[in-house]
Amino acid sequence: MKRTVMLLAVVGITFGCKTQELAKEYKKDTSAGHFVSDNKKATQIAITGGGGSHEFLKFFGITDGEILSEKGENTVIYSEDVEEIGTLVPAVDILMLTNNQPLNATVKEAIFSQVNNGKLNLLIYHPSTWYNWEDWPEYNKQLVGGGSRSHEDLQEFEVTVVKPDHPIMKGVPKTFRIVDELYRWEKDPAAEIEVLAMSKGLESGEEYPTVWIVKHPKAKIVGNTLGHDERAHDLEAYRTILRNSLDWVKKE
Ligand SMILES: [Zn+2]
Repeated sequence: MKRTVMLLAVVGITFGCKTQELAKEYKKDTSAGHFVSDNKKATQIAITGGGGSHEFLKFFGITDGEILSEKGENTVIYSEDVEEIGTLVPAVDILMLTNNQPLNATVKEAIFSQVNNGKLNLLIYHPSTWYNWEDWPEYNKQLVGGGSRSHEDLQEFEVTVVKPDHPIMKGVPKTFRIVDELYRWEKDPAAEIEVLAMSKGLESGEEYPTVWIVKHPKAKIVGNTLGHDERAHDLEAYRTILRNSLDWVKKE
């Protein structure tokens, strides 16, 4: 599989395609975290997993992947294989970043090139909103709009919607409680973002941005620090925000 994908990627580059095609082999691939649409014009989405501290496939690949597939309307491919991710990025419309494992130079360049050419929108979730990679500061600065270096202990906290009129917050309760890691997420001083929801520690009283959009000239980007385990992914408010975020980043 991997070799075929690589070959198709090379063919795409050789013939000067700006955006590569998703390898045909995925059509017959029913691996967990893969949802392949029959619709030839389906929106194509890749989810990146891998790294430590999380069950990436189970929650981001399967639980969130099913939501993103919209009952077969979209194609979703989850991968933890960095080489494969390098071939997916130029072929998809939307990239959901949820990994904290390092990415290679090919993937990093592909993400920036697709985003800066207006060909890729991003959903950046929980582990990928962290300051994971010291050698990739432009990722946090330009794409995430900031980052987290610590979080409160896994416990219940309160999320408050601060922009109820924004489409990403449609149908989301004004306040809701969640058992998750409250990321101490901070905006990069140079980044332009719009915060849509904030969270407050019930014991600490400290507040941090939880859902925001990054104002990028070419791409739609949603950041969301929620998603440690099933207590987030199975929560209706989390699922509604993910569905709305997909609608918002999906190309017309
Ligand atoms: Zn976590």
